This record gives sequence, structure tokens and C-alpha cells, in this order.
Amino acid sequence: MKAVRFHEHGPPAVLRYEEAPEPELQGGDAIVRVRACALNHLDLWNRRGIERVQFHFPHILGADIAGEVASSADNSMTPGRRVMLQPGVSCGRCEACLDGRDNDCLRYDVLGSHSDGGYAEFVRVPLQNLVAIPDAIGFTEAAAFPLTFLTAWHMLVTRAKVRAGEDVLVLGAGSGVGQAAIQIAWLHGARVFATAGSDEKLAKAREIGAYEVINHHTHDIAAEIKRLTTTRGVDVVIEHVGVATWERSLKCLTKGGRLVTCGATTGYNAPIDLRFLFTRQYTLMGSYMGTKAELLRVAPFFFSGQLQPVIDSTWPLAEAADAHRRMEEGQQFGKIVLLP
Ligand SMILES: [Zn+2]
Repeated sequence: MKAVRFHEHGPPAVLRYEEAPEPELQGGDAIVRVRACALNHLDLWNRRGIERVQFHFPHILGADIAGEVASSADNSMTPGRRVMLQPGVSCGRCEACLDGRDNDCLRYDVLGSHSDGGYAEFVRVPLQNLVAIPDAIGFTEAAAFPLTFLTAWHMLVTRAKVRAGEDVLVLGAGSGVGQAAIQIAWLHGARVFATAGSDEKLAKAREIGAYEVINHHTHDIAAEIKRLTTTRGVDVVIEHVGVATWERSLKCLTKGGRLVTCGATTGYNAPIDLRFLFTRQYTLMGSYMGTKAELLRVAPFFFSGQLQPVIDSTWPLAEAADAHRRMEEGQQFGKIVLLP
């Protein structure tokens, strides 16, 4: 099959479009013909290399996948069945898995991290990762949905327990998690404030549910939130930017506010002033992916059109390196999708 692999860590140029062996069907698994695979920031981290994480080379990236079932163990899924894939792989046997917290599994993996992912014509996945999609849903949209909407749902609904009438600040409206979080917060009746680095992105953020928008290049986020909420601050901050925004994110919280973070794309050694943490009674929460059950819970909103992944652009699989460059430059609004 054709695949994009890399044989060493490095810049986008290490991604090579080349021949690779097709994955072989094993017990409990399915082989999926990949029709679309969306990029995530995780792909960039994995390509560059992560401290203390060993890769087996050559490696195939790609966590967000949609396609058709090619074959499955015991023929449990009809060939040709249209599916999107749950991006989290877990053991299914440990305490966390059996407790329904499979994203806390000690052997948790994200497709395309320790296993080969979707930058290829075929991918092998456990049967329980297949989620059937209706005919009306396109493969590009289906690939753009799982990881970011699962992550944003886990952050807002499961961790922050967002309620109608609350104020939510979403950083980086143009990112995958940002566009998903705006929509999910809006769906739950929250008033959404969103930030982005260009007027064009801010206009798009309004289109998908943001009530007020802040250009983080020209304005101070904390000062703007104070002004827009008449000094009160917001109930929930959705963080994934890291060092570049962390201190201002905390300043945006109202007393008793909750901050949830799922990433640190600009760096991870962020300071915290403990005086504000205790006197203002903040709650700081980490969030990582989401459970299989949560993806099944959020998917119907996608199938009914109430949640729609925003597509930035589609690229032939062979141009994966250019797609990575676009993401690294932060030009995108929404998801960048590869088409094998
Ligand atoms: Zn487990």
C-alpha cells in the first residue's frame, strides 16, 4: 500500500510518501481502508520526537481516521461499512478500562503513536474502535470529528461540568480543540468568548457560536475579558496553548472558576501564583482525550448536524509534509485533512 512514513524524527521533510506493507488482520481487530485522516498537534510532537518516548521506525502517524471496513476478525463487521475510528486504544481489562475510564488505562495509546496510524491506505484497529457513520456524513468530516470533539467534550462536560448561563473562554478558536469547544459550550447554553490571531479567524469563531471574540495579537486577553464581563471574569477557561497564555488565562477566571487544560503547544513550564489559587478558590484540571463512551455520546450531535467539524483544507496523502507545514505555521482554522 501507499503510506506516509518517517524513518527518523525531524522537520516535515522526514515524512516520505512510499510503499509500505499492508497491515495483517489479527484476532479482535479490523482492517479499515482509510478514506480520510485528519491532522492533530500530536502528529507534530510525534514527528519531532518526544522525550523518553521510543518509536519503532519506520512509523505511520495519524489518529483521526474515517473509511470503510476492509475486513474484520470473524467477519464481525460487513466489508464496506462506513466508519470513523475512536482514536484511543486501551487494554479493555484493567481497573480503569472496566470502570469506563479507558483514557486512564495504563496501556492507553492514541492511534498513530505506538501503533501505525492513518497516513496510509489501510490501518489495523481493535474492533471496539469502530464507530459506524450514517451515509450522509462525508469521510472528510468524519475524520475531522473524533479526537477534537472527544477532547473538548471531556474537558467541558465531564471535567468542567459546564452549565447553561455560564461564561466560557476558549483559547485558540482556530485550533481543532478550539472550534470543537466553542460549539460544545454553545450547545450547553454557555456564553462563549473566543480568542484568535486574525480578524478572519475571529469572524469564523462567531459563525460557530462565539458571543464575543478577542484578537490575542492586538489585545490583552485578561483585560478584554474583564471589560466584557464587567470585571467578573469567566466561569470556565479552556486551555491548550500553555506558557504563552497561562498567566492571562488564570487572570480571566472569576472567583471559584475552573480552568481545564489539554495541551501546551507553546511550552509546558507555566508558573502559578498560589496566593490567587487559594484566595480565589480556582480549580485547575488536566484533561486527556476522552472515553469510548463519551465519543458515542457526542457522535449523535455530529450525525444530526448540531456539531460540525470545521474543515480548514484537504490535501492528497502524498503532500502530508506540506500539510504539517501549514499546521506548524498556525495558518489554519479548523481541521487539516489528508486524503489517501
Ligand atoms: Zn486498560
